[in-house]
Amino acid sequence: MPDYDFELNKVLGWLKENRARRLLIEAPDGLKPEIIKKVIPALKDYTVFLSSFPFHGACETGDYEGIALGADHVVHFGHTQMVGRKLPTLYVPAYYYFDPSPSFENLDNMLNPDAKKIALASTVQYIPSLRPISEHLKEKGYEVMIGKGDRAKLSGQVLGCDYLALTSFLNLADEYLLVSSGDFHPFGSVFALETQVMQLDPYSLSWRRLDPSIVKPWFLREGFAWLKLLDAKTVGIVVGTSPGQKFLWEAEEAAKKLRKMGKQVSIISALSIDFNQISAMPFDAVVLAACPRLPYDDFDSSTKPLISVFSVLSGGPGGLRDWLRGLRRKTSPSLSEIG
Ligand code: SF4
Repeated sequence: MPDYDFELNKVLGWLKENRARRLLIEAPDGLKPEIIKKVIPALKDYTVFLSSFPFHGACETGDYEGIALGADHVVHFGHTQMVGRKLPTLYVPAYYYFDPSPSFENLDNMLNPDAKKIALASTVQYIPSLRPISEHLKEKGYEVMIGKGDRAKLSGQVLGCDYLALTSFLNLADEYLLVSSGDFHPFGSVFALETQVMQLDPYSLSWRRLDPSIVKPWFLREGFAWLKLLDAKTVGIVVGTSPGQKFLWEAEEAAKKLRKMGKQVSIISALSIDFNQISAMPFDAVVLAACPRLPYDDFDSSTKPLISVFSVLSGGPGGLRDWLRGLRRKTSPSLSEIG
């Protein structure tokens, strides 16, 4: 298990300063074993509840759970704050500190020899590595570009639904670099940029170059789902109720638009999306107004064609790609409500 920084001194200081007594801990499942081992024993002066909710993103909160348990404070590990909270909450990103320098030779060899401008970003755990990577690139003579998202809180940070840190430099940078483990964020960045992205895996310290062809199935899925939606007589619009997934205004606008097209539309609310349940509902097509990644990452989990509400609003496939790029966001009241 990598050694994440749970910032225990900061947590203890914050709890003491705020005279906390009953505490709810929120964290993604991957961090829970370490939290049980290292964090809960250090909080022996407090009544502590560890939520079993998976907390895939900062879009989700355990406020209702905390209130039900009588918690007076919340500590959320693994993300930065995206949404307003009902209970006083401290966000601890759980940084993973590592030295990226052993990967620099590999990086130098892989960069396009004609590149001059390099956009650089990371998922939240590896944000501290941006500085040494950026310093190395500057020493080599490159111009380094680090952007800022609107759902992500930190400079250079990307989320599965916010690639502005990279897409701000669309057609301006010669190379796009992302520090991230796994495929979820790297594939999302390639989709949003529609160009090659170089990924540094912080654990193996190896770089790989991802080609846009890896997300071709996403475009095919969206084209297929769009045609099915045009043919559909009955449409279900599933709106998330987690604070950062509640695209309510978009869901209602999409319902108006689809009804004008002669479709019978029902809006379904969902705290978490259950594709078995959705598949069992009598709809010819399903529009998702929840986590924007679901129509691609969970396409195969549903027997119904899935299309993003952002594509419905934009009038065709590509709407979600634009939204992930950071376009068409500012006008959405449900986003402006996010604290
Ligand atoms: S909306 Fe989806 S991609 Fe965005 S933070 Fe939440 S879980 Fe992640």
